[in-house]
Amino acid sequence: MLIQGGLYVVATPIGNLDDMTKRAIEVLTHVDVIAAEDTRHSQKLLSHYSISTPLLSLHEHNEQQRSEQLIAKMQQGQSIALISDAGTPLISDPGYQLVNLCTRNNIRVTPIPGPSALITALSAAGLPTDRFIFEGFLPVKSAARDKSLSKLLGESATVVFYESPRRILTTVEAIISELGEDRRLVLAKELTKAFETFFSGTAAQCRDWLAEDDNHQRGEFVLMVGGAPQQLEDLPPDALALLALLKNELALKKAAAIVAQHYGLKKNALYKHALEHL
Ligand code: SAM
Repeated sequence: MLIQGGLYVVATPIGNLDDMTKRAIEVLTHVDVIAAEDTRHSQKLLSHYSISTPLLSLHEHNEQQRSEQLIAKMQQGQSIALISDAGTPLISDPGYQLVNLCTRNNIRVTPIPGPSALITALSAAGLPTDRFIFEGFLPVKSAARDKSLSKLLGESATVVFYESPRRILTTVEAIISELGEDRRLVLAKELTKAFETFFSGTAAQCRDWLAEDDNHQRGEFVLMVGGAPQQLEDLPPDALALLALLKNELALKKAAAIVAQHYGLKKNALYKHALEHL
């Protein structure tokens, strides 16, 4: 049962068409109109699922005007779905103005969750996910890009970027300049597609891998930057003393977790320190 006069924000596949959810198909089949970033692109997905709902374009160049038209339709009782070319709308994609206008006009917005390259990449990268920062695309101009990167020097959370194949190598080189060649990176390429690849290593290893074969630079990328390693001097001596005692009584993981919680430190830094020094 669809909500009349409401907006559905519908996630669509990021490569593998089978990642379309049942709810997404149902909603797209039954709404009055689908607002799509690129109607020709989305037509292929809709045809694949035999969905014949009319499409209207909503992209960065017409978003304000189109959103006002769609609000009027919803106020007349129509139900509308919003999709983007791939993944979850609004995540580095159009739709913010429409959703914002809906909430300001008391129009119900219902998310239909599904794929997003950001979460898909993080879920299999092997980097800490307890805290992460999504930065979207880095600025294209090198001075602005380097400034954004330099702010991450002491950042302890995992940082996630979207990057185009044209810039992936120069971006990794910029990371080496700003954060050092030992910073841990993970490149997630062509997610959910036939040539899906995760390459994980130091920034220098990632640069070499990208440079050694042009094919390695082709496709869509999520670039993840591991958090800055916690410095030994950031670990208080009291915490290290307690860790040294506890590790004789408990499994090291458990001891590191208890000390981390008590002193508000990173469990991994304590664990690593104990392995290397205690
Ligand atoms: N809204 C989308 C989402 O939820 O992931 C993102 C749209 S953004 C315009 C497109 C960027 O997402 C690409 O340049 C790439 O960085 C990333 N991306 C999308 N699909 C991908 C895939 N299959 N593999 C790797 N990265 C992908």
